[in-house]
Amino acid sequence: MPRLNPEILAELISVLGQDHVAQGDSVLELHSHDESTHPPVLPDVVVFPGSTADVSAVAELANRHGIALTAFGAGTSLEGHTVPVHGGIVIDFARMNRVLQIHATDFQVTVQPGVLRLELEKQLSGFGLFFPPDPGANASIGGMIANNAAGIRTVKYGATRDHVLALEVVLADGRIINTGSRSVKQSAGYDLTHLIVGSEGTLGLVTEATLLVYPVPEHFSTAIVSFPDVPHAAEAVYGIMGHGLDPAAVELVHQDHIAWMNEDEGADLPVAPSLMIEFTGPNEKAVGEAMTSALEICDQVGSTGSDRGLGREARNAMWRMRHSIRERVHRRFPGHRIISVDVAVPISRFPDLIAFSQERAAARGLDYRVIGHAGDGNIHMNLNFAPDDAVARRNAETLNGELIDKALEMGGTSTGEHGIGIGKRAYLVAEHGAEAVAVMRGIKKTLDPNNILNPGKVLPDE
Ligand SMILES: Cc1cc2nc3c(=O)[nH]c(=O)nc-3n(C[C@H](O)[C@H](O)[C@H](O)COP(=O)(O)OP(=O)(O)OC[C@H]3O[C@@H](n4cnc5c(N)ncnc54)[C@H](O)[C@@H]3O)c2cc1C
Repeated sequence: MPRLNPEILAELISVLGQDHVAQGDSVLELHSHDESTHPPVLPDVVVFPGSTADVSAVAELANRHGIALTAFGAGTSLEGHTVPVHGGIVIDFARMNRVLQIHATDFQVTVQPGVLRLELEKQLSGFGLFFPPDPGANASIGGMIANNAAGIRTVKYGATRDHVLALEVVLADGRIINTGSRSVKQSAGYDLTHLIVGSEGTLGLVTEATLLVYPVPEHFSTAIVSFPDVPHAAEAVYGIMGHGLDPAAVELVHQDHIAWMNEDEGADLPVAPSLMIEFTGPNEKAVGEAMTSALEICDQVGSTGSDRGLGREARNAMWRMRHSIRERVHRRFPGHRIISVDVAVPISRFPDLIAFSQERAAARGLDYRVIGHAGDGNIHMNLNFAPDDAVARRNAETLNGELIDKALEMGGTSTGEHGIGIGKRAYLVAEHGAEAVAVMRGIKKTLDPNNILNPGKVLPDE
């Protein structure tokens, strides 16, 4: 693809002003990678638009010159999504970071894409509201929409896709469209909103979004339950989901992570494969009863202990520790690279997937720790290896591939929440079939005929 030249640079500066067009080494480096192991590639320039009009002008210019245009939110993706593999322009939404309107009486909020999740949470909390999708990282809302991010609360509230009502989107040629509406029911025409959600910046640039939010539940009941091994914990997950108990979180945590939480955070948890379980709701009795039923199921499956008396502080600390698992791996293995397994299967197959993952990891001699959004049938394994250990890297990649093949065979997906990026492109045809991928290519060609929007992502090479 064509690269930046002095004329295009001068045009960008005339559109955005010198202050919002950057080519310094540290800025280029910061925008050359995400949080994955995919090799970084430096962009030619990074731009910081302040408005939809700016974004439109940048897209029009990039499209006219056929130059790559890669969107950047907070750069926390895990499959190479933001790596500008063809150089060109990276468009960073950090300046478009305002919460535009909280429609508190309608349980909705309208935001710019660069708003970070924790900032949105802070502003909503003043109204007793919250935005449930919670990927752990302090991601931008634009990045969460583009990746259809999910997290620990998805088991009850759904993923980001389930919370997007309306979007303002800049197309590859600079046209601005509005999709959806503020009605929670919508049947008018093709659903462009949900076509853009999960499209990883390859079909359009989100410049505004209206999202569904929820009242903060008044009551919670949270417990941590230990099991003799991971398969027993997986069996309990199936039991809890099968009884229709509607948990707000069911997270599986490997015993090593529990041990590291004890060491690092002074927690005093039994070192065993564990489930972190939470029920929330408006009625204290109801959430308590749901927890009692869940713990009975765990007991029947053979749990070895549980602590259900977690107060607000202990509960917040537990979720904080859960969120810092990846960071802890980085701390334990300084300099190591991490491949994140992200397969998901129908819940009835979750115990089988767990058993298979353990058997294959052991067979490959890998140092593995299985964790996951268990209630969604979604497992993660942070497969870490030293950057110069080619054998360990190959083993980790092979195991990731084996788990994807197995998940697909079980009727699941290669990626429950992280998205395709660069890393999962090779599995798209296996997951959806050649004809469906051809339809995806047709959509891409219609919306982005010059292939300028985040080229090299989602679709496999032709
Ligand atoms: C420690 C850690 C834990 C994580 N846990 C989870 C988890 O539990 N669940 C989960 O789902 N993910 C998780 N992730 C992955 C990541 O946080 C999410 O995918 C998140 O949605 C990425 O948001 P971001 O703002 O960092 O986006 P970026 O990484 O900056 O971008 C993501 C994609 O969105 C595109 N994009 C960005 N802004 C726009 C825009 N305005 N318009 C169009 N496209 C745009 C980019 O081009 C890119 O393709 C985790 C990551 C880390 C580091």
